Amino acid sequence: MPFADAGMYAWIVTTQAFANAPGGVAAHAKIAGFAASVPHATEEVMPQLAQRVGRAKPSAIMVIASKAKQLKAAGRDIISFSIGVPNFLPGEHVYAAAREALGHDSGQYGSNRGAEPLLDAFLKHIEALGFSGYGHANLSVGIGAKQVLYNLAEALLDEGDEIAFAAPYWTTYRDIADIVGAKANVLHCGPDQNYKLTPAQLDAALARKPRVFLFNNPSNPTGMVYTREEIAALAEVLAKHPDTWIITDDIYNSMVFDGIGYHNFVFAKPELKDRLVFVDSVSKTYGMPGWRVGLLAGPEAVAKAVTTLNSNHITSVPEVITAAAVAAFTGPQDIPQAKCAEFAARRDTVVAALSAIPGVTCPRPQGAFYAFPDISVAFGKSHHGTRISNDVEFCAALLEAKGVACVPGSAFGEPRALRISYTCPSAQLQPGLQRIQEFFAELT
Ligand code: PMP
Repeated sequence: MPFADAGMYAWIVTTQAFANAPGGVAAHAKIAGFAASVPHATEEVMPQLAQRVGRAKPSAIMVIASKAKQLKAAGRDIISFSIGVPNFLPGEHVYAAAREALGHDSGQYGSNRGAEPLLDAFLKHIEALGFSGYGHANLSVGIGAKQVLYNLAEALLDEGDEIAFAAPYWTTYRDIADIVGAKANVLHCGPDQNYKLTPAQLDAALARKPRVFLFNNPSNPTGMVYTREEIAALAEVLAKHPDTWIITDDIYNSMVFDGIGYHNFVFAKPELKDRLVFVDSVSKTYGMPGWRVGLLAGPEAVAKAVTTLNSNHITSVPEVITAAAVAAFTGPQDIPQAKCAEFAARRDTVVAALSAIPGVTCPRPQGAFYAFPDISVAFGKSHHGTRISNDVEFCAALLEAKGVACVPGSAFGEPRALRISYTCPSAQLQPGLQRIQEFFAELT
């Protein structure tokens, strides 16, 4: 795609796609394809971008968020349930550690694996979660869990290899698979099974010998959390299929409600340790999404491969950021604990409001800060003359009519639903939910 077309594409994305395209976000990729194929005067003389980039799509979540921002800037009263960011900042001890590190910053490149104090802090953190027998050689750092996951895809998947994961999935899984040219085997887990993968589904998927099975618990977008028994049953299946790497993206592990606790396959089947990679991050637990620190714990060969990739791109996580992450892991844990209690209470409010809407079902989330109601009862109906035939049209009409921004479920591989991220300011939660209820009541 020549540069001028890339600019045109960005313009379409930010100004028009969601509001105007009949297929909204779903039509997005098509719009991008159209922009990419428009002949341009300079096309013959411009070098072309790699095919890989053509497979990369801008995040559907960002499209909604930017539309909501635009409406807000135009003076509309907007309540955003769209972006999955925590609603709190890290504790003062984290800022103090960053300031202190600034005072004696070496200004040098750091370790490709992660500085020793960070690795020590992460080891303690994962031991408290229940992992045992890991050392520095099992760890590696990244610029957020997203980059760790991208590195893992580069390290574990060759072009054409299969990666299996459940839907609803975090959008980036699909995108990363596409970029590295892997084949995604998406295992559909509908609301009827509480959006959770069953052992039978996993067994069938692993019989195809995928190179990687990617698992997410607690889940973004559904907020589902697997119980100890459910994890043990899936671990049993995993143990039967030794050809597959296992990645557990469990960055919401501190946000688990109802006393379920956080469980990992290796707790149930320690022998899986040889091929399981656990991914964590400071983003959600410590209110630090912008600080960009993620880490993995896994087999030495995998940690080494990711460290080598780091040496070829990011080099290291900056010293000041490292000091802040160490403080987050080792300092008081009262903020994550208080936030977990707050989100559990908000979950109750959200589920009560959604369940009161006739025809809407919302499997009860038990972690993270998302709810994922099935809103398909609205399909085929109209809102003040605007016909709604799918989740994208539903979200567009809801935003336009009521100023409430949610992300269509199709962005997560489940077009019957939408995602509500309930980390908005508390004063907006009830009014936002009420507007959704009114919207449903006005459907004809
Ligand atoms: N995994 C999941 C399931 C997520 O929801 C997110 C962030 N939305 C990430 C990974 C990436 O987190 P980070 O900020 O550490 O890159």
